[in-house]
Amino acid sequence: MDVTTARERLKDMLAELDRSIGVLKGDPVAVREYSAADAGSDLTDADRAQAMLTVATAQRRAVVEAIERIDEGAYGRCVDCGKPVPEGRLEARPEAARCVQCQGKRERRR
Ligand SMILES: [Zn+2]
Repeated sequence: MDVTTARERLKDMLAELDRSIGVLKGDPVAVREYSAADAGSDLTDADRAQAMLTVATAQRRAVVEAIERIDEGAYGRCVDCGKPVPEGRLEARPEAARCVQCQGKRERRR
C-alpha cells in the first residue's frame, strides 16, 4: 500500500472516529443506537459510552500518530524494532505502529 492510499484511509478513519467521539460525548440515546450491536450487556449506557470513548480515543491517537509518521517518512516501519511492518497488516490496520511480534510483546506486558 503506498503512502498516498494509506494517508487517505487514515484521514477517513480520523473523520469517522471524530464523528463517533462526538456522538459518544453527546446524546446517550444516540449512544444506545450506536452500540445496539452489543446489546445484552448489563452495562449502563453511560458506562458503555465511557468504555467506547476510551477505545475510540486511543484509536484516534494511533491514527494521528500514523499520519505523523507518513509526514516524517517513517510510515510502514515498526516503531520498536525498525523492521518493515508487513503489507497485509497495514492493509488490515493502516494505523498499526508495530510489527506483529513487537505488538504481541507489548500486549503481553500489560
Ligand atoms: Zn517490531
